[in-house]
Amino acid sequence: MVRKKTKSVNKENEKVFKNRPPVVVILGHVDHGKTTLLSSIRETDLTTKEYGGITQHIGAYQIEHQGKKITFIDTPGHEAFAKMRSYGAKVADLAILVVAADDGVKPQTKEAIQHIKAAGIPFLVAINKTDLPGASPDMVKAQLAQENVLVEGYGGNIVTVNISGKQKKGLDELLEMILLLAEMEDLKGSNKGELRAIIIESKLDSKRGIVTSLIIKDGTLKLKDEITVVNKNQKVFTNGKIKRIIDDKGRSINKAEPGRPVEIMGIKKVVSAGLLVKLLEGKELKKTKVVKKITRKIVKKEDEDKEEKKKIKIILKADTFGVLQAIKASFSEEVEIIHSQTGEVSESDVLLAKSTGSVIIAFNVNMSSPVQKLADMEKVIIKKYRIIYELLEDIQSQVLKILEPTIDEEILGEGKVIAEFKIKGNHIAGCRVTKGVINKRNLIHIKRGDKIITNSKVKSFQKKKQEVQEVKVGDEVGIVFQKDVDFEKGDVILSYSKK
Ligand code: GDP
Repeated sequence: MVRKKTKSVNKENEKVFKNRPPVVVILGHVDHGKTTLLSSIRETDLTTKEYGGITQHIGAYQIEHQGKKITFIDTPGHEAFAKMRSYGAKVADLAILVVAADDGVKPQTKEAIQHIKAAGIPFLVAINKTDLPGASPDMVKAQLAQENVLVEGYGGNIVTVNISGKQKKGLDELLEMILLLAEMEDLKGSNKGELRAIIIESKLDSKRGIVTSLIIKDGTLKLKDEITVVNKNQKVFTNGKIKRIIDDKGRSINKAEPGRPVEIMGIKKVVSAGLLVKLLEGKELKKTKVVKKITRKIVKKEDEDKEEKKKIKIILKADTFGVLQAIKASFSEEVEIIHSQTGEVSESDVLLAKSTGSVIIAFNVNMSSPVQKLADMEKVIIKKYRIIYELLEDIQSQVLKILEPTIDEEILGEGKVIAEFKIKGNHIAGCRVTKGVINKRNLIHIKRGDKIITNSKVKSFQKKKQEVQEVKVGDEVGIVFQKDVDFEKGDVILSYSKK
């Protein structure tokens, strides 16, 4: 069955548009209680209890409060939020800024405020840990005012709710306020219109293959739908056919409607959070085969482009999702993240690194000795870090090395190939030394134009028929390289040492 495509919001479509559940993100300083709040809200949900309280981590969950649904993104941290936004996807409709009442506004609170403001979404403040003796909601409000977050009673109308995530106090009021804010926003979604879904997580699961979590914003996603993954400029990243849809309670479902977070199987590649899922429909669906071909071509072309532009391929493992996203957001485009996940380095990571030629970066995570052994056997490099800036500096120096191969080298001497001979099976380069000294013990680059074509070492230097160790500027020498180098007249010989 071919579904009708909605071209624009016309009268006919207006009828099918209805309020959809708000998608809420929780931001705030580390340890102020975001994770605790997310699990407390989930635990208090009656619909979850109906299903025996079995929950599935799919990056977001949905609860019901007073008969109304709310979707929470359960990967707290503004880094994750920023990363999703960097792809142009407005995944969250509302934000909750969590501030601990005993600690007040902290650096990451300020960062979170900036991210919320940049996203242009409404928010409310949850003043948490009010159960603690040192709690002072008034101090928090005054500090927020200094950050230009003007709450009720402090010159503005931003709503605050005093809560204790740990003791599950104030949660009803918080949820009520979220629904009120959502009502004011009048969030509309259509379950009949064009599909608009945003990817919030994508990973390679050792048992299930590639699993992708997404939140439906508009339209309905159904089993067997043919989809493509695109960015805001409609650039195609991958495609697929939906084989399974699982909800946040672990149930297999046939379709998902606006506001609903689901996990799907059938997308062919691990992709970035923030990308969009689009349905192939109408004419496009008829042309599926053609589209598939095009997609394949685009993907192939991308791969070719990637090969042209050298990249550092990495598999990133970290202890927390926030750190993982922060590290990812700090990489430059020369770093290609093949796979990233929280948790220990596993055998499947090592095998993936082996098949893709990646290096494994392990931040604050360990690995069992069988995994380490497998890595040794497969010659897969695992680099361990405990400090973020060391990791970033290390990766950055490797990036610089790609962009500028001689960055960590000191050039000691330079020569030019002025003649080429073959004597007794030896391929000899007649060179004139133009700068510095060239010593046998140092390494050699051979440069043609502005490209280094190969690296070698000097096997023998013949100066005036004498074997010498070193030659200097002005000397003319015959060089035999340690491996047969395909040099030609005009090539430049660079002698260097590593800094
Ligand atoms: P996150 O880093 O913002 O996700 O913070 P967590 O949810 O991991 O909480 C950090 C610490 O604060 C944990 O030890 C929690 O048990 C504690 N905590 C969180 N919420 C509350 C609260 O409402 N009251 C008290 N007393 N402790 C809390």
